[in-house]
Amino acid sequence: MLQRLFGFHGGVKPAYHKEASTGLPIAVAPTPDLLVIPLHQSIGGMPRPLVAAGEHVLKGQRIGGADGNVSSAVHASTSGTVVAVEMRLMPHTSGLSALCVVLEPDRRDEWIPRQPFDFRSATPTQTRDYLRDAGVVGLGGAVFPSYLKINPGKHEQLDTLVLNGAECEPFITCDDVLMRERAGTLLKGMAIMREMLSAGQVLIGIEDNKPEAIAAMEVAARDAGDSTIKVVPVPTRYPAGGAKQLIRVLTGIEVPHGKRSTDYGVQCFNVGTAYAIYEAIALGQPLISRIVTVAGNVSRARNFEVLFGTPMRDLVALCGPLPDSDRVIMGGPMMGLLMPDDSVPVVKAANCVLVGSKSLFPPPPPEMPCIRCGDCAKACPADLQPFEMYWFSRAKIFGKAQEYHLFDCIECGCCAYVCPSHIPLVDYYRFAKSEIWARELVKEAADVARERYEFRLLREEREKQEKAAKLATRTVAARAKTAAALADAEKPAATPEQEAKQALIAAALERTRKQKELVHAENTGNLTPEQQAEVSAIEARRDEIREMAKPHLPQD
Ligand code: SF4
Ligand code: SF4
Repeated sequence: MLQRLFGFHGGVKPAYHKEASTGLPIAVAPTPDLLVIPLHQSIGGMPRPLVAAGEHVLKGQRIGGADGNVSSAVHASTSGTVVAVEMRLMPHTSGLSALCVVLEPDRRDEWIPRQPFDFRSATPTQTRDYLRDAGVVGLGGAVFPSYLKINPGKHEQLDTLVLNGAECEPFITCDDVLMRERAGTLLKGMAIMREMLSAGQVLIGIEDNKPEAIAAMEVAARDAGDSTIKVVPVPTRYPAGGAKQLIRVLTGIEVPHGKRSTDYGVQCFNVGTAYAIYEAIALGQPLISRIVTVAGNVSRARNFEVLFGTPMRDLVALCGPLPDSDRVIMGGPMMGLLMPDDSVPVVKAANCVLVGSKSLFPPPPPEMPCIRCGDCAKACPADLQPFEMYWFSRAKIFGKAQEYHLFDCIECGCCAYVCPSHIPLVDYYRFAKSEIWARELVKEAADVARERYEFRLLREEREKQEKAAKLATRTVAARAKTAAALADAEKPAATPEQEAKQALIAAALERTRKQKELVHAENTGNLTPEQQAEVSAIEARRDEIREMAKPHLPQD
């Protein structure tokens, strides 16, 4: 039975430019001389470095441990020696640096011991911890840690698992070729996720401009022999690959602002993530590489399997960049980020390395004032008011921008694409979001400082009270002692009879003590000469007494 499809609000139809990079099969990119592996490659907290310069590591060894509730581990992409753990330029428009592990490959490509993870015998928490430590994140570009999504939410089980193969952004074809070439493996990953989530049905959404991928996935689904797995071609309209938009198209469910799709019994994963989950669970291999499209101003656009940490310029060099190339973008032309330099490394978010030039991406005409035409609102797939958010972001009235749901903006670029005033609207939203995050960080830091200060005050107060209590105890004891001394001093003097009696008692006690000493010394044979003399005197006196006690016979 044909799957009923629904429309979503807005969207645009840009030129797709996808054919150039799908002519050749996926190639394995060579291992570079030096891999620069950033520790922060997912949404959430930055992993803690687990290695130091000079250490030898194996391929797949954890080099960054997940830190905090939302974080994901990072692994060595091959075996080799860590030459530094230091700040390096990040693949981000900001041009900022972040902590990276710099790895010199030993060319042996020696894996850690690998074994499948038996998720059926594990608790849900153990499975989530395993996926967190395997570094699996969403490979559609959002890099949200997948272990947090392996959760049916409020419900015991999900109605629908959506697999996102729409890949709507121009130039990018990494999901397309993955589905064409590895459909069977990908579906095995899907089966694992489905079992973990107890999902009733699986809908695999693929834009209808990818007929080869649709055919390959249909064959794999048929081979799986499960009628609840459906491959659904969806109309090509950017951004049909947004999670909310694809869920809407496939199920008709509109996930409102501030709600999760799992609240409505649906969870959505990118096809690349399903493949990564298969490798992690069934093969025991953490996420150390991904498929990357290299396209744009190059003579041989292609998809490569690339180790994380590989410099983007190495990939570009493999594809014959044209002489007028002047920039590298990570991602597509709609949502991609301009790189500060082509030396930056490929990371988990890098679905595409797009080479640009002035002829391919001509500079936009000068920005004009907003004429309130409303075209941006008509094109917005998230049903937002882009011109209002623009106005408040530009005026730095960030609270108001948030009231207009700034954080529901998926930065798809449809609004800027249609704006007749050529306003780079997404740049304003990104600026506003980063300012709000920065302020949140400052506020958090201030909150922590305030908590620490209040804790210090509490501790000082407690110590003061403990000291006061000790002082009070000592004072009471001293007073009691003084009172006893005073009481002794106030006792009446002894009479001469009492003194004589006390002297007699003392003399008797002294005699008893001496006798005890004598008996002990005699028993142990340790008599001093004086004691020996005393014993002899006592013996003589005893003999004398015995003699006197004998009956005295009359003498002749
Ligand atoms: S499309 Fe551009 S000019 Fe028109 S309302 Fe939106 S921001 Fe203003
Ligand atoms: S970038 Fe944001 S505001 Fe603009 S169309 Fe996309 S979701 Fe809407």
